[in-house]
Parts: sequence; structure tokens; C-alpha cells
Amino acid sequence: VIRNPGEMEFHQTLREVLESIGPVVSKHPEYVRSNIIERICEPERQIVFRVPWEDDSGAVHINRGFRVEFNSALGPYKGGLRFHPSVLLGTVKFLGFEQIFKNSLTGLPIGGGKGGADFDPKGRSDREVMRFCQSFMTELHRHLGEYTDVPAGDVGVGGREIGYLFGQYKRLTNRYESGVLTGKSLPFGGARVRTEATGYGNVFFVNEMLAARGDSFDGKRTVVSGSGNVAIYTIEKVQDLGGIVVACSDSEGYVLDESGIDVELVKTIKEIERGRICDYADRRPSAKFVPGRSIWEIECDVAMPSATQNEITGRDASTLVRNGCVALGEGANMPTTPEGVRVFREAGIAFGPGKAANAGGVATSALEMQQNASRDSWSREFTEQRLKDIMADIHHRCYETADEYGMPGDYTAGANIAGFCRVADAMLALGVV
Ligand code: NDP
Repeated sequence: VIRNPGEMEFHQTLREVLESIGPVVSKHPEYVRSNIIERICEPERQIVFRVPWEDDSGAVHINRGFRVEFNSALGPYKGGLRFHPSVLLGTVKFLGFEQIFKNSLTGLPIGGGKGGADFDPKGRSDREVMRFCQSFMTELHRHLGEYTDVPAGDVGVGGREIGYLFGQYKRLTNRYESGVLTGKSLPFGGARVRTEATGYGNVFFVNEMLAARGDSFDGKRTVVSGSGNVAIYTIEKVQDLGGIVVACSDSEGYVLDESGIDVELVKTIKEIERGRICDYADRRPSAKFVPGRSIWEIECDVAMPSATQNEITGRDASTLVRNGCVALGEGANMPTTPEGVRVFREAGIAFGPGKAANAGGVATSALEMQQNASRDSWSREFTEQRLKDIMADIHHRCYETADEYGMPGDYTAGANIAGFCRVADAMLALGVV
């Protein structure tokens, strides 16, 4: 707290992870001798920089850019960029810390990092977004490289932004280094299924949790928060597996559609028109828009929070449990507050923590890096099967680890412990660096 003042979300994730690795540390005195805990909590490098850019009227704006290169014991720093007005250094550190363990859990050779800026792309023209991305990359490029640090998208950073960022990187370095960014579009080194991967992966993970209880998505009434990248492909895959998604949202409110959310309409509104979720209700007679209320008041069997951090409070969690929710997969990073996690744990629902459940995005990014390195491009079927297998492996690892440490069914403990051990062992092997 003294070293990282005011970084509330970072403190929250530190507490959550450190609390659950107690049993591991007492079994492994070598982690204590090498002070792994203190070392893992301190980023290897933090970059904070000015991003000046001009809007369409010629006015000059200044934003603050960040890249936190947290841990490279397992591979190059890997993690997304978030463009949102709420982004502070503490936000990026919380996301970067989570990313270390998430990336470790995938079993792939990727370290942890995260970045972004307090830039708000909402309402900005394509040209303004392009100028911002170019200015952002003008500073960031000197810290990146396919063997060094490989960013991807996150909130506010999708295919359009990755394209502009890659274009500027290529121009500045005079290198066609495909593997320096992931989430690229298909014509310039993108991987099939990367766009869908976080949402699909979360659904695969929840499906594994349900299967472990002899259950499935079939006929499950599901609520998905958000209507961005993760939410859209969560909705699509839940519906593929026989679930019924009745609601989704944005920061202004939610839409309830008892006939099942029309995912193609959500895609048109959000991906093509860059509109708001209230537009959905204007075009679907079966839907209504409810402004300013918590989406978690809607009765459901499965909850898939896919919007933002701390969106499920203790109270929301109690409502969900009272309404009969049996499973939850965190598509977003840390969407459940500590009180909410406690409520779900006490109720014994199948709870998939973000660092396991939403790891499909970064795992598919690592597959994109593999394809770039070998100048190859895999089919959709093959890539989706790889994603499915990776999510099943992550589920297995969390489940078995929780069992081994005497906390059966506690996927949060399983994910934290399994993720931590792989990184800690690598750090030990690399010496005091
Ligand atoms: P997007 O920017 O595509 O979408 C975010 C969505 O969440 C928007 O619909 C946004 O609405 C909504 N939202 C934001 N704040 C709130 C709020 N307070 N209440 C309700 N809705 C809200 O981002 P992504 O889908 O990429 O990311 C969503 C989450 O998933 C984040 O936590 C991210 O870190 C995490 N994640 C993303 C990965 C990826 O591959 N994209 C990988 C792993 C995790 P509005 O337009 O009103 O702001």
C-alpha cells in the first residue's frame, strides 16, 4: 500500500491472489528464501508516457499512455491495451498482475503485461482514432518486439485500432514483424477465431464446470453483461450449445429479450454501426431497454459477466444466488467484488474466475504468434478445436489443483495456485534477476 498508493484495484487483486497461495508457500520454503512473493508483486518495468494528438477540428489533446511489463519468466510480456477514460496506472497494474497467472495457466510460453491510455474512443472519428493510435505507438514501439513485448486488444481496442497500431509500428521500424501485436485482421497475419476466442473460451470453460457436475448449457437461461467483443461471442457460443441468452447491456442499461438475444443484430449495432445497446430494443419488438439498472436483477441459471471490473457487488451476487444461478464464468477481468466472490463460494455455485475462464483470448493470441513465427495460417476448425482443448486443460488444472490443496470445487484457489507455481518455478530457475 505504501509503495503503490491509491491503486485500489491493484491492491484488490494482490490480496485475492496472495490469500490463496498461502498453502503453497508453506509447502515450498524455497519460494520464501528467494523472496518470490515480493518479486512477483513488483513489475519488471513500468512505462508512462504523453500521447499528444489532434482532433478533426485541429484542437490538440493530451492523454497518458501506459505499458506495465510485469513478468517475463515464462516468455515475452503479453497482454492487451485498454483505451478508456477511467484508465490509471493502478488499473493497468491490476490487469497486468492478473495476466501473469492467466498466461501461466494456458501452459503456453508467454509472460504477463498490460497497457493502455485514458483516451476515450467513443464518438471519435476513424481519423481521430488513427491519429491517436499513431501517436501512442510512436512512443511505445521502442519497448515492443516479438521476443520482448507483444500487446493485443482489450476494452476500446479492437481490430481497427490494432491495424493502425501495427501500421505505425511497421513504418517506424521498417520491419514487417507480424508477431509484435496480436488480434490483427486476417489479411495481415491475424489468426482465425481470435476475435471470438475470449467469449467462446469462457463458454467452453463454463461448459466444463457444468459437465463436472453432470450438467450442460442445454436450455440454460443465461445473462451476459456488456455488448462488446467478449459479450458478443459469449452470446453466440452459449446459443450454439443450446442455452438461451435473454439479456445483455452497456454502461447505460440492459436489454431484456425473452425470445433470445439476436446476436447478429447486436453485431450489426456494435461492430458495424458502433451504436448503443438501446438501439437493439428499437429494432426488436420482443425486447425492452431498461436504463440505469443492474443486469444482475434478471433471473438466470448462468451468469456471464463480460463488461468490466467490480460489476457484480455482494448484493448482486446474493440476488443471483437467490434467483437460482448455478454457474458463473468471468469473461471480464475481476468483474466480481471480493464480497460477491464470498457469496458465490458460500452458496457453492460453479464459479469460473477470470484468469481461468477468460484465458481463451490470450491463448489464441499465443497461437497467432505461433502462426506468425512459422508464416502459417490455420483453419477455423483446427484453431477452434485448439482453443477448446486449451480451455479443457485449464479447467482440469484448476480442478485438480483445488482438490490437491483440499479445496475441491474452488476454481479460484485452483487457478491462483496452479498459475503461481509455474511462474514461481521459472523465476527460481532463472536466478535473482
Ligand atoms: P469492449 O470495449 O469490446 O466492450 C466492453 C463492453 O462493456 C461495452 O459494451 C461497454 O459498454 C460495457 N461496459 C463497460 N462498463 C460497463 C458498465 N459499468 N456496465 C455495463 N456495461 C459496461 O471490451 P471487451 O469486450 O474486449 O472487454 C470486456 C472485458 O473483458 C474487460 O474486462 C476486458 O479486460 C476483458 N477481457 C477481454 C479480452 C479480449 O480478448 N477482448 C481478453 C480477456 C479479458 P459502453 O460501450 O457503454 O462502455
